Amino acid sequence: MEGPKTNFLEVECECGAKQKVFSNAASVVKCTACGNVLAEPRGGKAVIKGKIVKKL
Ligand SMILES: [Zn+2]
Repeated sequence: MEGPKTNFLEVECECGAKQKVFSNAASVVKCTACGNVLAEPRGGKAVIKGKIVKKL
């Protein structure tokens, strides 16, 4: 069986800041340091725009 389909990702922005993003984020997630969009909701699953460092 697969594990839970929702999880947190650690995403690195192009500015170098790292942030936790919910993989099923329901709203746009922006970098707290520079305001760059890190994730956008699409079809119930977030599209990650930054670099995924690891899954939490
Ligand atoms: Zn940033």
